[in-house]
Amino acid sequence: MTRTDRLVEALLGVAIGDALGFPFEGKPREQLATVDLSHLPAGRFPPGTWSDDTALTFITAESLYLSGALDLNDLAGRFLRWLKEGYFTPFGQALGIGRATREALLRLEKGVPPEEAGGKGERDNGNGSLMRLLPVALWYAKDPLEEALTCLHKASSLTHAHPRSLVACGLFGLLVRKIVAGKALKTALLETAKEGPHLYASSPFREELTHYTPLFEGKIFLEKEERIISSGYVVHTLLAAFWVLYRTEDFAAGVKLAVRLGGDTDTLAAVVGGVAGLYYGLASAPESWLNGLQKRELLEQTAHEFARRLGERWRDLNQR
Ligand SMILES: [Mg+2]
Repeated sequence: MTRTDRLVEALLGVAIGDALGFPFEGKPREQLATVDLSHLPAGRFPPGTWSDDTALTFITAESLYLSGALDLNDLAGRFLRWLKEGYFTPFGQALGIGRATREALLRLEKGVPPEEAGGKGERDNGNGSLMRLLPVALWYAKDPLEEALTCLHKASSLTHAHPRSLVACGLFGLLVRKIVAGKALKTALLETAKEGPHLYASSPFREELTHYTPLFEGKIFLEKEERIISSGYVVHTLLAAFWVLYRTEDFAAGVKLAVRLGGDTDTLAAVVGGVAGLYYGLASAPESWLNGLQKRELLEQTAHEFARRLGERWRDLNQR
């Protein structure tokens, strides 16, 4: 049973990973081998600046505890305020938005209903929904698996509706619920890989399974670093996150390795940071990482409130 302070550390882990990787977004791996990650680095923005990954994760957490459930209309409204008004941002401006997310939010603005806003094309499979889904995975971690998957898919579809993206989000959710249930991290990773194909044995998901073969066959866990791709493609991000989480033993090592892989540094480190924060907590993180986050108080307050409300929800579920 996951303690509620681990829920706080999971969300803050996303923010730390994002802030650690954001200055290096798009940089090739070779340039990052020796870069100093003992403090949050400066990029175009001051150290501790976090981007879309953190903003949309925390906005999702806030929407969940204020609505008491996944409410796509509420979520869509908050995402639009982020884009248009700089709501829940370090400096009043939405940073790092991806193409598919922007296009979906602009469709929402024009009145397209949230259920139909997300891109459904094969090119709409960036990691923009995976990066923000940790709060949904946690919120439904103790509900029946089918309900949890439905909510993860719905939440992804707001911006990313292609079945390949939904599969990535569902697998991520499965991993998170195993950790919440008290499984060891490596066990949770291996079990998720093994159960994935059975979870998605029907159309339209079945047709997507081949993209995840290295995970389902377990090869990803043995892969050499040069074969791991950290791009903005959702399949790459999910596989790279599993690879990093399998071969690191604490939070700090996980997010550092995620950043050093280059490419989509902030998103991979945010995804890894969330899971590693949930499992290990943040004890291995240098104090300057947490202290250095822009708007740290806002992040901490939101994370604590999310953890408190989710703790209550879990108690209610237990008493049913
Ligand atoms: Mg980002």
